[in-house]
Amino acid sequence: MPRNRIIPIFVSHAGCPHQCVFCNQKRIAGQAAPLCARTVTDAVENAGENGRGAELAFYGGSFTAIPAETQEVLLGAARPYLRSGYLSAIRLSTRPDAVSEETVLRLRKYGVKTVELGSQSMDDAVLERSGRGHTAADTEKAVRLLRNGGISVILQMMTGLPGSTEASDLGTASRIASLQPDGVRIYPAVVVRDTPLCDLYEAGQYQPQTMEEAAELCAKLYVLFTAQGIPVLRMGLQPTEALSSGGAVAGPYHPAFGELVKSRILYDKVVSLLAETEAKKVTLLVRQDKLSAMVGQHRANLRRLGREFPEKRLKIAAGDCEEWEIRLQIEENLDTIT
Ligand code: SF4
Repeated sequence: MPRNRIIPIFVSHAGCPHQCVFCNQKRIAGQAAPLCARTVTDAVENAGENGRGAELAFYGGSFTAIPAETQEVLLGAARPYLRSGYLSAIRLSTRPDAVSEETVLRLRKYGVKTVELGSQSMDDAVLERSGRGHTAADTEKAVRLLRNGGISVILQMMTGLPGSTEASDLGTASRIASLQPDGVRIYPAVVVRDTPLCDLYEAGQYQPQTMEEAAELCAKLYVLFTAQGIPVLRMGLQPTEALSSGGAVAGPYHPAFGELVKSRILYDKVVSLLAETEAKKVTLLVRQDKLSAMVGQHRANLRRLGREFPEKRLKIAAGDCEEWEIRLQIEENLDTIT
């Protein structure tokens, strides 16, 4: 089975001491799960042979903020599967202010390998306006404790939160990168129905990022993180039926948001390469698996490049390139610029 296969268990709003403005966890998760040992055993048993070697993932809420006894029940129910080798690992998501030395000891005891922390912003004013109820210092402390306990840390950040700007979101990414997490997930804020953010939006007090703004910023964040060796594991909310059928009221929700960002990264690179050449007939060579991102959804990149460089005749083709490399093949004299 693929190495990253997971058996997900959504813990919904359990353990959340706050109401973050953007969150209607029940809608995002698409289900509310009861919290008992059966939750774990049913999920694992239902996965059957297909789940062998998978990671068990407690997602959706603030796992370490639920009562310690319940954490022990859930983790204890997973332990036999971990010991037998059926499960390869356990991961969970939580809030930065719900991580203490005691928490780390408990997670270690039950073999939790990875914790995803919802840091969301490293700007305290943005955190406050977003109802997060924790500070950037809480994130830094939680990362330190988890790391010292030998637990891998994935940090989640959001863009376009109330009070944020492109500069503050870039600042958040830099501070997150300086913590050297094992990976990051980037979620542009989406206005979800039945959330305080939706109330603010409908009252005209919050304007979400446009799709274009979010993709442009996330392209910069992707480059910032990967340049420092930090994998970007996801960009954009996981699409769900509930979100796609009206739950996402406004903002940059797109089922293939990550692809939009990758198209944007390639577009930005091409623009700077084309600006360096006077050539009129140019073929853009990219790695085979980047062809569709280079063309863009509904040929968006090609159309935009046509507007930006109306004097050029551009073609796109697969070439012998590195992952994000673009080579310009100048058709007049067959020179190649990379
Ligand atoms: S974002 Fe996380 S901490 Fe905030 S309300 Fe939702 S589940 Fe709870």
